[in-house]
Amino acid sequence: MLVDYNSLLLALGVSASCLAVTLVGSWFSRRPDTFLLTCSAGLVPIVGGIFIYGSYVDHPRPMFAILTFVLFFIGFATIWVAGHQFRTRRLSKARFLFGCLGGIAVSAGPMLAGYDGLAFMGDNIVICLLLLLTAREYWISRREAPTPLYGITALYTLTSISFALCAAVLIADGKLVLGHAPDNWAEDVSLAVCIAGMTGIGALSLALHQWRQAALHRQEAITDALTGLLNRRALFDLYGHRSFGPSMAVIIFDIDRFKAINDQHGHAAGDLVLRLFGQELSFELRSPDTVARLGGEEFALVLDNTLPGRAEQVAERVRDAFAARSIVIDGKSLTCTVSAGVATGTVKGLGFDDVLRAADKALYEAKRNGRNRVEVAAYLHAV
Ligand code: GH3
Ligand code: MG
Ligand code: MG
Repeated sequence: MLVDYNSLLLALGVSASCLAVTLVGSWFSRRPDTFLLTCSAGLVPIVGGIFIYGSYVDHPRPMFAILTFVLFFIGFATIWVAGHQFRTRRLSKARFLFGCLGGIAVSAGPMLAGYDGLAFMGDNIVICLLLLLTAREYWISRREAPTPLYGITALYTLTSISFALCAAVLIADGKLVLGHAPDNWAEDVSLAVCIAGMTGIGALSLALHQWRQAALHRQEAITDALTGLLNRRALFDLYGHRSFGPSMAVIIFDIDRFKAINDQHGHAAGDLVLRLFGQELSFELRSPDTVARLGGEEFALVLDNTLPGRAEQVAERVRDAFAARSIVIDGKSLTCTVSAGVATGTVKGLGFDDVLRAADKALYEAKRNGRNRVEVAAYLHAV
């Protein structure tokens, strides 16, 4: 070999330490993603284990090996937990204990009994399994960010195979007692794979982190923070380029005398009314339809693939349900009403802007005619 085993171990230890620091750094930029922190917490005992294993290679004292096993299993179990946390956002103590205690039992036990060969077989098999379980977590989540997740899964699997090879070579040799650290081609291959895998997994974990952050920003850009509905921009992104035929309709809702609610009960009460109306609209939502908050106390419901007259019925139902709803603010109950304007597309097809403008005109008519009512765009009769 060009580089001796201990130098490779040192390289692995140093790259794992750098990776741990980088992951903590990235975690600082987006704290809710705690899987990065858990991942770096797993790398710390692994780095410790690598350095102690280096001492064991030079001086094969059972205590060094047992310490290495304990640190490795704490580390690899934590990395499995990090993968599970990435997928579910939950920290699984059961997985941690299962990984740690299982690994320690099958390796430290034989080592204490003097069967170091058997201990290393157990050590390699359990690490192989823990890495496979980690790979599985990222594989299940692959839809979220396919490119980095396929990469991470492949690298964990590859690293796991390298440990399987180490175990296979030891089993094939059949020596239950070695008297020194395992020294064969599989160990060298595994070490090289670990160094490459660690670097790759580190880079891809950071990419994954960026991917999640970008997805979150995209989501925030199209969501109304108060109601959780889509915002005006998202609605235009969805329908701005569509031609509205007779099976598509827009309803614009505007809460009646909303300013008075703010003035009499405070802004927080107004916000509550907006959230409740958003809920009311969501109840009416079928899968091809879209509901959005246009701004202020104005909301839109776009009906896709709908029958003639249904938009008006839906608008009436929402108006009726909201007027009947009693809203409790500071122990007092109040009721609120809403007006709506309905516009349907035409046989020739209309742009979204035109349908929205027609619905807005109808809404204005509803306000003029006394509020708490639904009006249908008049142009319909002319087309
Ligand atoms: P009309 O029946 O004619 O629609 O009267 P209105 O009082 O509902 O309409 P107006 O346009 O006069 O008032 C709308 C108010 O909505 C004014 C604004 O302060 C309030 N508003 C806009 N956005 C928010 C919000 O996010 N939260 C709260 N609480 N109020 C808001
Ligand atoms: Mg308004
Ligand atoms: Mg209003």
